[in-house]
Amino acid sequence: MTSDANLKQAAAPDAAWQDDVRAGVRHVRDLASLPLSPAERAAAQEAAAAHKVRVPKPYLDLIDWNDSDDPIRAQVIPSPDELVAAEGELDDPIGDHAFSPVPRLTHRHADRVLLFPTYQCAVYCRFCFRKESLTSIGRGYTREAVEPALAYIAGHPEIREVILTGGDPLSLPDKALAEIRARLEAIPHLRLLRIHTRVPVALPSRITPGLVEALQGRLMVTVVTHFNHPRELTEEAEAACRAMRQAGFVLLNQSVLLKGVNDKVEVLEELCRELMYRLGVKPYYLHHGDLARAMAHRRTTIAEGQALVAELRRRLSGICNPTYVIDLPDGGGKVPLAASHIEGRDGDTWLIRGQDGKVREYREVVGRA
Ligand SMILES: *Cc1c(COP(=O)(O)O)cnc(C)c1O
Ligand code: SF4
Repeated sequence: MTSDANLKQAAAPDAAWQDDVRAGVRHVRDLASLPLSPAERAAAQEAAAAHKVRVPKPYLDLIDWNDSDDPIRAQVIPSPDELVAAEGELDDPIGDHAFSPVPRLTHRHADRVLLFPTYQCAVYCRFCFRKESLTSIGRGYTREAVEPALAYIAGHPEIREVILTGGDPLSLPDKALAEIRARLEAIPHLRLLRIHTRVPVALPSRITPGLVEALQGRLMVTVVTHFNHPRELTEEAEAACRAMRQAGFVLLNQSVLLKGVNDKVEVLEELCRELMYRLGVKPYYLHHGDLARAMAHRRTTIAEGQALVAELRRRLSGICNPTYVIDLPDGGGKVPLAASHIEGRDGDTWLIRGQDGKVREYREVVGRA
């Protein structure tokens, strides 16, 4: 599979989700069918040359075309701003390549690895921090392609967790997923299979009983979804998450903080609250916008992000709050960014600012064991 063939081969040709793929935007030329002005269309087509374009029908239907700043549109329709690279932006913003001992695998933390079974996606997000890999590698799944990565995992007993990412692993056929899952569960030291995916957001009809079954086996399964805006929490997405929860999967969400999409406290509050209370998905990370090329127009400052998460912390319970992180360049990993509440220290007495803004003293009392 060298073209974006994953989605064509994923199931019987009559599957409902295949209609959702077919009726969506699949090629640059499909942009012509969207209600864009001639100038917008020309700009979108030019920008699409730098990063693939694909939007399944259910996600396309969420766009309000009367609003040129629509937050759903902003995530998937190429914008002329994408042609403007800024100084300091990076092709590999989080340093995946430097920690890649074999193709299709990144090993930065001892106990867990990223495995890239495909570099294709069901939806192409304009802000993607792996867009360079998706363009330059771009390949789909073959058994041979992941063989070196599987051998590497089998040879490293310190690895407990395998994270399928890409690309979008849930753009693969059920058969390929079952095959990967079976190969991984045969490696005795592995405990958990994690899947990072935007399919429950953009193509929820793809979460079929067959797909869920393909992932079930010996390993604990965690699906990390990627909802960025409360309008993405549709009834279809809710049903997809329910099916995965009923299968016993642990559901977490990571969002990217994006200017003009979700950089308002009301938006983040509704997103995180409804993810937890309605979809049963625990907000896990809120990522500060990384230095992916030509995305300056979607980045906030760190101070803006800190103010947002401080207010979120005041408004929502602990389980509804994600951890605000930055993924450092050069493989520095994910580091929490929330503003510190520690104002100072005098010996064993700490000065800590409470939720009400008042500073209190906390004296440490530690006994001898
Ligand atoms: C994000 C990431 C992980 C997962 O980190 P968690 O904090 O466990 O979610 C693992 N490896 C790499 C290289 C990563 O970038
Ligand atoms: S689905 Fe994930 S990997 Fe694919 S374009 Fe979107 S953010 Fe990037």
